[in-house]
Amino acid sequence: MTTHEVFNQVPPLVDHDTADDAALLDGLAREGAGWATGEVRELGRLAGSEPAIEHGRLANEHPPVLRTHDRYGHRIDEVEFHPSWHDLMRTAVAHGLHAAPWADDRVGAHVARAAKFYTWRPDAGHGCPISMTYAAVPALRHAPDLAARYEPLLTATAYDFGLRTPLTKRGLLAGMSMTEKQGGSDVRANTTAARPQPDGSYRLTGHKWFTSAPMCDVFLTLAQAPGGLTCFLLPRVLPDGSRNPMRLMRLKDKLGNRSNASSEVEYDDAVAWRIGDEGRGVRTIIDMVNLTRLDCVIGAAAGMRQGVITAAHHAAHRRAFGRYLVDQPLMRNVLADLAVESEAATVLMMRLAGATDRSARGDATETAFKRIALAVGKYWVCKRWPGHAAEALECLGGNGYVEESGMPRLFRESPLNSIWEGSGNVAALDVLRALAGQPEVMAAFQAEVELAAGADRRLDAAVREVLAALNDPADLEMRARRVVEQLALVLQGALLVRHGHPAVADVFCASRLAGDHGHAYGTLPPGVDFAAIITRATPKLT
Ligand SMILES: Cc1cc2nc3c(=O)[nH]c(=O)nc-3n(C[C@H](O)[C@H](O)[C@H](O)COP(=O)(O)OP(=O)(O)OC[C@H]3O[C@@H](n4cnc5c(N)ncnc54)[C@H](O)[C@@H]3O)c2cc1C
Repeated sequence: MTTHEVFNQVPPLVDHDTADDAALLDGLAREGAGWATGEVRELGRLAGSEPAIEHGRLANEHPPVLRTHDRYGHRIDEVEFHPSWHDLMRTAVAHGLHAAPWADDRVGAHVARAAKFYTWRPDAGHGCPISMTYAAVPALRHAPDLAARYEPLLTATAYDFGLRTPLTKRGLLAGMSMTEKQGGSDVRANTTAARPQPDGSYRLTGHKWFTSAPMCDVFLTLAQAPGGLTCFLLPRVLPDGSRNPMRLMRLKDKLGNRSNASSEVEYDDAVAWRIGDEGRGVRTIIDMVNLTRLDCVIGAAAGMRQGVITAAHHAAHRRAFGRYLVDQPLMRNVLADLAVESEAATVLMMRLAGATDRSARGDATETAFKRIALAVGKYWVCKRWPGHAAEALECLGGNGYVEESGMPRLFRESPLNSIWEGSGNVAALDVLRALAGQPEVMAAFQAEVELAAGADRRLDAAVREVLAALNDPADLEMRARRVVEQLALVLQGALLVRHGHPAVADVFCASRLAGDHGHAYGTLPPGVDFAAIITRATPKLT
């Protein structure tokens, strides 16, 4: 029996192009990867298709399962994934979202990869091993002999799942194991011991409290060698085909990121090969961490973009009090504010991707700029995501609080990027460290911001203010978050003034730099060109 007619419910958001994003595509061309536009658009259409969205849902709803033993009691230490996880991984690897740019000489290869990583977000969880594989390569190059053997397989575009001798596989994935029970930020507290062997290898005994994606083929791990904390390459399967004794003890029961397995592991005399000198473990693995930090920024920017699109789609189809939500002035204020935050994140992440690309090609100024801008971006963009996700969720009303909308998954994911790869305080303190004793780093940052000098008086004033704050050494560590926030805002403001939509740049300067804004989203001042901002963000949806 029909009890009622269903109406005023929003149609599903499927078959759209997640790369239909002016800030992304402008950035792609500006940062030297216009040649990749077709590939990014193709991936965007795939990401917005119903099958990809469904794979994301299934991978999240069927989390990985740890199998420590086989039916006869032998230890196997394997993790089973839903087929949809493998489908997402296969697509990501085939499109070169992992280490492929390291084998691609084209200018802008890292920018193209960043745009694709941003575009391909049916579920964030599988981004973790993809990101770690991308990031592992520069650290691995500290051991040229290992890099010569493993890099071609890490950059190969074949997803070859399963524990087998790495060098016999068609493609490899890499993970990272630093965090121990007694300390994650302070890795110098690591107790895992590495004993040198006559053949040049080491035997590792100890544990790691977090090791995500434990079905990766190789891991970059830290352990205490006789000469101090050292970086190692540790394979899951040894060259003779036997399992390296890296035991998976448990999988974490996490707030979000549920499709990705994050494990606790123990090394029981596990074989590993040294990367870099003994005692230089942090200096070596930081080359990996810096790139996973870039991916934290990309992931947070992508999450904000997803929030904007979903919220705008809902508002364009849902009516209340006789009008579509998108036509209600206060909802327009919320949507525009979310869109401004999202564009500010995207323009910064594309600039960081450009700096990464040019730094990889030996540009010293861009290396100096990246040193500070990456830490600034990691702190700020990741910090902004949870509030943004909550507000985007609320645009859907009660439907946003229900799992089927996808918004709870986005919301649960949102705090993570600020935690891993250097939690908020650690990222903020890293900015101060970057500035200490490296004048070229601040010079590169200032030069970047000065490119926008004179374009907006609010930006000019904010730049003067942050320079004064930095020049005052009193309590700088205690003030680190505030100063880094100011640095992030002037950098985003400078990029938007130069490259963003004029309406977005204007309202960013008014609200974020001149303080004409409340403490919640949707508090932009009167006189804002809401129509231009919303249409720029979501031309097809609204
Ligand atoms: C889902 C997930 C997956 C992960 N996967 C991996 C992985 O694959 N490999 C891996 O190695 N690790 C992984 N981690 C661990 C992660 O990198 C650490 O949790 C993170 O670095 C923080 O370390 P910690 O948990 O030991 O916290 P702590 O280091 O104890 O920090 C706790 C708090 O203190 C703050 N803090 C630290 N030092 C200072 C200071 N000097 N001044 C002020 N505040 C400070 C931090 O910002 C943080 O807020 C994962 C974590 C999560 C949640």
